Amino acid sequence: MSLAPETLGDTTDASSFLHLNPPFRAEHVGSLLRSASLLERRAQFQTSACTAEELRAAEDAAIADAVKLQQGAFYEGIFEQFSGMSNIVRPIETFKAYLPYVQFFIYAGFKEVPSIYCTGKIQWPEGGVHLRDFEYLKSLVQPQDIKKLKVTVCGPTWMHLRHGSDNTYDTAVYKTDDAYFADLVQAYREELRALYASGCRNIQFDDPTFAFFCADSTVEGMKKAGVNWEKLLDTYIRVYNDILQDRPGDLTVCLHTCRGNYKVRAARTSPAPLGLHYCEGGYDRIAQKFFNELKVDCYYLEYDTERAGDLEPLKYLPQNKIVVLGLVTTKKGQLETVEELRDAINEAADLIAQGNFKRSRAYALNQICISPQCGFASVAEGNPITEEEQRAKLALVVEAAKKILE
Ligand SMILES: [Zn+2]
Repeated sequence: MSLAPETLGDTTDASSFLHLNPPFRAEHVGSLLRSASLLERRAQFQTSACTAEELRAAEDAAIADAVKLQQGAFYEGIFEQFSGMSNIVRPIETFKAYLPYVQFFIYAGFKEVPSIYCTGKIQWPEGGVHLRDFEYLKSLVQPQDIKKLKVTVCGPTWMHLRHGSDNTYDTAVYKTDDAYFADLVQAYREELRALYASGCRNIQFDDPTFAFFCADSTVEGMKKAGVNWEKLLDTYIRVYNDILQDRPGDLTVCLHTCRGNYKVRAARTSPAPLGLHYCEGGYDRIAQKFFNELKVDCYYLEYDTERAGDLEPLKYLPQNKIVVLGLVTTKKGQLETVEELRDAINEAADLIAQGNFKRSRAYALNQICISPQCGFASVAEGNPITEEEQRAKLALVVEAAKKILE
């Protein structure tokens, strides 16, 4: 995905950027609603009413259904698969109170919350983390479509943001952040190498970390706690770049960031208030570094409500990257119109074209794709949206991409 700077501004050259490889003009970010039968199986597994094999069969069936709905998939849970990482209940004091969702834990009266603690040397597990799922997914599509499949991986900075330099790892194992991240980076590199060897050409990191830096409350809290937020942001960018160093040229790597995607259902309000979201704030604070220093090909950005700020920060987008605008909300069923999406995309194209790196408007438009803001079910019970509404949202993304972007 490299573009020669001397060709910029020429619409003929811009049209050579055909989007036949990921990211596509109509994109998807996260999870789909889990079926009732899958949720029931998981509940049975919790009470030992079914075996791990029976649960696996239900999950395989659900993945096959998801593939029928669209060619894509969402995975989770990389940290606990690495050796050295323990999934345990942790005291609330080990979480950083300046993070909005931790404030919610405190508000709700939680004294302890399950999380990951690094208790040993981090190592990639033989056989990989997402490899078996990717092999299964491959079996569901035509060989020529394998390169289009996307594997979503949890961001490497997530646990460190949550627990900080003091509570992320046992200091008997790692003395410094640098030592912790060096082994974590190696484990991620092994995973990406294994996925690539299996045919994967499209990776999406799912990482709200960056959006959390957009929230004034988080940055103010960091300052009060003595955390240098700019240095921390630099560290996190470096961790990604170390993982992605020397990656194959035909491996597309994207990053999704958003401010939380959990809308509490009316029937489940206790103890959370209705409409809870994690944080708010535009991309302005991070945009320069985020778009220019982070060595990914593409960004999936939340843009479905005013909490994500305006489109202005897109002026920092360089010429060799793609932005997927998450303009279609996943938090409610009400359907957006193609005209609304067209207005936003036109504004984005103007900002990018006239931005810090000038280019033609056609070129800028060719750097834009569209998707739902996030998954439809970032937590198991899903957002308050029906399967019919979900289907309509996915269809709208495709229709809008055809009418506006092609
Ligand atoms: Zn998201």
